[in-house]
Amino acid sequence: MRLLVTGGAGYIGSVVAARLLEEGHHVTVLDDLSEGHRDAVPAGARFVQGRIHDAARVIDGAGFEAVVHLAAFSLVGESVEHPARYEENNVLGTARLCNAMQTLGVNKIIVSSTAAVYGEPDVAIITEETKTAPVNPYGSSKLAIDNDLSRRTHAGEFAAISLRYFNVAGAYGPYGERHRQETHLIPIALEVALGKRASLTIFGDDFPTPDGTCVRDYIHVLDIANAHVRAMAALEVGYHDIVNLGNGSGFSVQEVAEAVRNVTGHPLPTEIGPRRAGDPAVLVASNERARTHLGWIPEYPDVTTMVEDAWRFAQERGA
Ligand code: UDP
Repeated sequence: MRLLVTGGAGYIGSVVAARLLEEGHHVTVLDDLSEGHRDAVPAGARFVQGRIHDAARVIDGAGFEAVVHLAAFSLVGESVEHPARYEENNVLGTARLCNAMQTLGVNKIIVSSTAAVYGEPDVAIITEETKTAPVNPYGSSKLAIDNDLSRRTHAGEFAAISLRYFNVAGAYGPYGERHRQETHLIPIALEVALGKRASLTIFGDDFPTPDGTCVRDYIHVLDIANAHVRAMAALEVGYHDIVNLGNGSGFSVQEVAEAVRNVTGHPLPTEIGPRRAGDPAVLVASNERARTHLGWIPEYPDVTTMVEDAWRFAQERGA
């Protein structure tokens, strides 16, 4: 298929674009490079630098059959400080992208959504039926997008699948995590192993979990990308499917730190800091729907594999 991949110069987008190319699709990447990197766009993809707000000029006449939409601002802390940016970029940008698609006759979209739409749920395993109650503007912006997609698809002539990622980790070949401002656990721990930071601060050890540190569902970026490949075949006009992408099991911050020690051989000193605002104790996905609706199963569920791949990537980049 001829596909437009927005955000294809970013961490997850570059792996998604690479996998779609490997599957024989024709890929055009649209990315404004605000967070992505030009050299992360896979060879074989056409690249257009620009915002999703201006997607009409890229879509017009290009013959796209579907859009895979990953471009978004995704920093929780920044969203709390600058909520308007998230409204403007994520919600309005996606609406303009969808408007352009519908005006120009492209009626299939796969959109990256997030576990952040569930906020701080009081269930241990999150299904797609779990109440949505985002606790920050990032999560709210993604929920607004999902709701808009439901309205568009129910009105007919539009097909959408929202993929709700849990904690994405790992790397695939030359594609990995290189955020300008790193906030995620595994890349930060690897920066300690590379000697770029003195220690890892664990944000709270008094949570109601077995070792007191937060439990998250870490999912390999290659499994995430493979779910997009599967979703491409599952799009159905008039229907908006929402699918969680996680392994269905969780690892604590202490367990991730131990995996980093085992993989890197670095002692990885840690210190206990205060809790980070808005961090729920446990976030673990049910992936039942992904299995049944997409025929997807995670192939790399071991957090050690994710850390090994991220470590190889970090060393190669000298990051
Ligand atoms: N975390 C931590 N120290 C750090 C970064 C993260 O203890 O320097 C914890 C964070 O509180 C959360 C888990 O690691 O419980 C995963 O955080 P991350 O930011 O990677 O992903 P999130 O779950 O917030 O999407």
